[in-house]
Amino acid sequence: MDRKNELVKLFLERGYLVSPEFLDEIPDDFSQELFSSLEKKGFVLDPNAIKSLLNRENLIKIPLKIVEPEKNLCEPASNIKSFGGGVIVLKGYKDKFKKREVGDFVNYFRNRFDSIKKILINRPELQNLISINRLKLQQDGKEVAVMGLISSKTEAKTGSLIITLEDVTGEVKLIVNKNKEQIYNLAKDLVLDEVVGIVGINKGDVLFVNNIISPDIISNYEIKKSPDECYSVFISDIHFGLKNFLEKDFNNFLDWLNGKYGNEEQKKISDKVKYLFIAGDLVEGIGIYPGQDKDLNIDDIYKQYEYAAELLSKIPERIKIIICAGNHDAVRMSEPQPGFDIRFSKPIFNLKNVTLVTNPSLINIHASKDFPGFNVLLYHGSSIPYLCEDVESIRIAGGIEKPELVMKFLLQKRHLAPTYGYSLFIPDICEDFLVIDKVPDFFVTGHIHKAKVLNYKNVTCINASCWVTQTRDMERRGIFPEPSRAMVVNLKTRDIKIMSFENEK
Ligand code: FE
Ligand code: ZN
Repeated sequence: MDRKNELVKLFLERGYLVSPEFLDEIPDDFSQELFSSLEKKGFVLDPNAIKSLLNRENLIKIPLKIVEPEKNLCEPASNIKSFGGGVIVLKGYKDKFKKREVGDFVNYFRNRFDSIKKILINRPELQNLISINRLKLQQDGKEVAVMGLISSKTEAKTGSLIITLEDVTGEVKLIVNKNKEQIYNLAKDLVLDEVVGIVGINKGDVLFVNNIISPDIISNYEIKKSPDECYSVFISDIHFGLKNFLEKDFNNFLDWLNGKYGNEEQKKISDKVKYLFIAGDLVEGIGIYPGQDKDLNIDDIYKQYEYAAELLSKIPERIKIIICAGNHDAVRMSEPQPGFDIRFSKPIFNLKNVTLVTNPSLINIHASKDFPGFNVLLYHGSSIPYLCEDVESIRIAGGIEKPELVMKFLLQKRHLAPTYGYSLFIPDICEDFLVIDKVPDFFVTGHIHKAKVLNYKNVTCINASCWVTQTRDMERRGIFPEPSRAMVVNLKTRDIKIMSFENEK
C-alpha cells in the first residue's frame, strides 16, 4: 500500500492523476529513477509514449464541482514589473511552491472555465445561456445555449459526432449530425478540455448541436503602429552547446546587429533595432534525450550558459533582449515554466540589457507618453507538435510544417495548451496561466524550428526559427529545421522581413 501511495504521489507531482487499475499495471521495478529516465527518453515529448503510459482512460475523472478554492492561497499570480528602457513585463508566472493535491486539478479546470466564460458571455449567440443542470427543465425541441469543457469526443457508426460537455453543474451529451457540414467540420476540430459555447436543440437528455461558439478574437481590432520607425527582431532555439549549432551563421547575425553585415539597406535597419526576443531553448541542455551526450560540444550546463552569455554580450547594449525558457533550458519542464534559475544561468542574469521572463509571459514594448506600446505574448510552444497531429484540419494541411496554423488555432481557443496531458503542466489553483485572456499584438513561439508568419485578425503570429541543423532527435520527432533566420518587424509599418544569415555553402 505504501508503494502505491508513493506512486500516486510521484505521478501527482508530475501533474497526473492515476486510477487504481493503472497502478496495478505499473511494473514492480518501476521506481523514481525509471520515471526520470522515461522523462529523459522524451515520454513527455512523444505523443505515442505519453498515450501508452498515461492513457486518458486511466486518469480519474473528477467532477468540476466538488472543491472550493482555498481563497487565502489565491493572491494574484500576475505581477507587474517595470524594467525601464521600453520593456514592461505585464504578466509573468509566479510559482507558489505549494505541494499539488487532487483538488488542485479541479480548481485548475474551474479557473479555466471561469476565465473563458468571461470571454464567451459577451457573445450574442449565447445570450440565453443556462447551466447544464437546468437543461432538464427546458421543453423538448427548444433551442438553448450552454457552455462547458469538452470531456469526450467519439464518432458514432452513423458518422455523427458524440461529445460530452461538462460545466460546474453537470454534463450533457451533444450530437453533431454529419449532414450539417459546416458545424460538423468545426466539431471535428474540437480538442479535449477546451471550453466552448454550444447552441442546440434540447431533446430528452441530449442536445442536437446547431452552432459552436469558440472564444475567438473579435476581428475589429485595428492594427497598431508605432509613431517612430524602429524594429523588433524575433529568434528562437539557439541551442548553445549543441555540435550542430550554426556558429558562423549566428556570428553573421551578431555582425548584422552591430552594423557590420549585409547590404546598405540591411545595415540601415540594424541601426534601428531596439528589441530582440528569444522564444526559448537558449541552450541545448543536458540529459534531454537518450544519447544526447554524443550531440554536445559543451557537455556542462554552466558552460553552455557561459557561452550563451559570451555571444549575447556582443549585441549592442541599446538593444533590449527578452528571453523565455524552453524545454531544453535548465528550468522546470512543466508549464508554466518559471523564469531562469540563477544557479545555472548566472552569466545571463549579469547581462545588463537582458530581461528574463517566464514561459509563457506577456510583455509590453515601446510604450511612451502617447503610445500604448505593443503587447507580445511569448510562449516556447510545447503544445504545438501535439496539436499538429490532433487537429484534423491542421494535420491535413501539413501538420508540423505549419506551426502558424496551430498558433491561429490557439488564439481561437484562447488557450496555449488546451488538452490536459499534451504538455507537462503543473496545475495552479489560483489561475489557469495558459489562458489567453488579453489579445496580444504579437504572438511568438519557437520549438518547431521553422520560420513562419501569419496575420490572424491583426495579431502577428510568428514562429521563430532556430540556429541548428537537424539532429537525429529532431529527425525522430519529424522536425526539419529552417535555420539561421531572423524575423525582422518594422514597428512603424508592421512589415515583416525574414532575413537569412546562412553562410554560402
Ligand atoms: Fe528547440
Ligand atoms: Zn523546444
